[in-house]
Amino acid sequence: MVSIKSASDIQKMLEAAKIAAEALNVVETKLRPGMTTKEIDKIVHQVITSHGAKPSFLGLYGFPGSACVSVNEEVIHGIPGSRRVEEGDIVSVDLGAFYKGFHSDTCFTFPVGQVADDVKKLLEDTNASLYEAINAAQVGARLGDVSHTVEAYCRERGYGIVQNYCGHGIGREVHEDPEVPNHGRAGHGMRLVEGMTICIEPMINMHGDGVHTMPNQWTVVTDNGCWAAHFEHEILITENGPVILTKR
Ligand code: MG
Repeated sequence: MVSIKSASDIQKMLEAAKIAAEALNVVETKLRPGMTTKEIDKIVHQVITSHGAKPSFLGLYGFPGSACVSVNEEVIHGIPGSRRVEEGDIVSVDLGAFYKGFHSDTCFTFPVGQVADDVKKLLEDTNASLYEAINAAQVGARLGDVSHTVEAYCRERGYGIVQNYCGHGIGREVHEDPEVPNHGRAGHGMRLVEGMTICIEPMINMHGDGVHTMPNQWTVVTDNGCWAAHFEHEILITENGPVILTKR
């Protein structure tokens, strides 16, 4: 069931979202070659808890970290650990904060130092596909319009689209209805209405759609080892257009 948020719900969700956005800002400031994914996770944990919030992902379905930290060929759900990010790598940091009864959720793929031109373009294009999709999330539009926007934008540029995982509604739970896939048919699916809060999160591979889960049962990697980007914002649907709650 899709939950429609009241004005007071939205105020609390905005506060939770701001904490999540700040955590990404601090990661961006502190990210250095040689840092382990566990060190990145510690930064996220520190920022979120310093506001009296709880990391939304810690313990979610048994996840052991405060953030999902995924490097290069890791698409999503990277478990923070001893892997080090090196100059030229990319690292996706997906996190959320639980505050005043509501969750937030956002992700950004950071370049570590200087990255190759095609990698830089993958990051720019994936982020741009997110903003195109956000722009499609207007009252009266359908979910398929949002999904199709990501798919069309990324296919045109020759990328692979992860289809086994998708965006979602968010609120008192991290994952609420509806599902927000990164592929779909324009003009199909649920109509968007004012007060819906959804996460749009393109997960885009340099080439090829295929992904699989590592033996650790969590980390999702590309089948062909190519690198992948993941950008996510949490948005509120309003009559005046979509509002990005996790804006940085
Ligand atoms: Mg999400």
